[in-house]
Amino acid sequence: MSSTNTYDVVIVGAGPAGMCAALYTGRSMLRTAVLERGMPGGELLNTEKLDDWIGEKSILGWELARKFYEHSREFGAEFITANVHKVKRLADGTFETVTDTGDVYLSPAVIITAGGTPVKLGIPGEQEYAGKGVSYCAICDGAFFREQVIAVIGGGDAAVEEAEFLTRYASKVYVIHRRDSFRASRVLQERLFANPKIEVIWNSVAEEVLGDANGLMTGLRVREVVTDTTRTLDATGCFVFIGFQPNSGLIKGHFRHDASGYVITDDRMMTSIPGLFAAGDLRVQLTRQVTTAVGDATTAAIAVEKYLKARGVEAAIDPLGSGGYAV
Ligand code: NAP
Repeated sequence: MSSTNTYDVVIVGAGPAGMCAALYTGRSMLRTAVLERGMPGGELLNTEKLDDWIGEKSILGWELARKFYEHSREFGAEFITANVHKVKRLADGTFETVTDTGDVYLSPAVIITAGGTPVKLGIPGEQEYAGKGVSYCAICDGAFFREQVIAVIGGGDAAVEEAEFLTRYASKVYVIHRRDSFRASRVLQERLFANPKIEVIWNSVAEEVLGDANGLMTGLRVREVVTDTTRTLDATGCFVFIGFQPNSGLIKGHFRHDASGYVITDDRMMTSIPGLFAAGDLRVQLTRQVTTAVGDATTAAIAVEKYLKARGVEAAIDPLGSGGYAV
């Protein structure tokens, strides 16, 4: 049977942004529900190792996720396994967050931290060697490929810019693009063509990621589509940049976003809908890192507290803990 539940704030998604927001809203004594369809951790669970989380020279993705999870529950946020179907603002300004099982969460503020998903190639070996050669983030994983030969897939700004970045570490970077020209901006292309470590393989598609008995990537099978010939590159890394899909669909059509669907917020992380905040990878921004996600989340959580205070919600919090308020 479906239920109706009332909170001060509902957070959708338990990646780094969601967990950090929960820490702060819980610490502000706001009744907080975090709705997550899978394991808490988000993209951290798809990341083998991080060496850019300040304070930890090297930490496994799942280990950082566990630490975030344990810490974020410290101040009372409730984590609920639920797949959010939609978030709707009612006429009185209350948000109705509905799960796919019909459960309803009512709250005067919502923080969407549902992240996004890198578009996958969908070729054999891609999933098997993810985190063991296959990556979707150059800043996160580039340093693990020092003096190695790697491949970058794609021809947009992300692929061309990140290929250039990866030459800091790799001895050689192949850029594999399915057409004979890039869609990336000219300035990025010029930098790429001037880089002696980069070789572009035009009109080609990756067909299979190859690996060894230790589960590590050893090569990439590539097909030239014009001549229909296949070759194997001795690459130990494959960085895929063929687009990123923000998970903003659950608030589709009602908020300001850019052409790619990324959510536009103000500097308090509030979307164009009052009371609806967004933080992390689904927001329009220059870069998408764990550090930027938690930065967004901190701002969003503090902004929610101020937003609710301005609407008198603070006074409605029951200090004895029986919880809730009338909506
Ligand atoms: P994008 O512009 O959509 O480019 C995706 C690239 O991947 C295209 O070259 C596309 O090929 C290729 N591709 C798509 N599906 C593929 C498949 N299944 N197999 C092989 N190749 C495939 O995506 P993006 O580069 O991630 O950029 C997204 C947005 O962020 C863009 O608006 C971009 O300008 C912006 N961005 C800007 C910067 C910057 O300004 N520094 C940096 C990164 C991103 P085709 O060209 O043949 O379609």
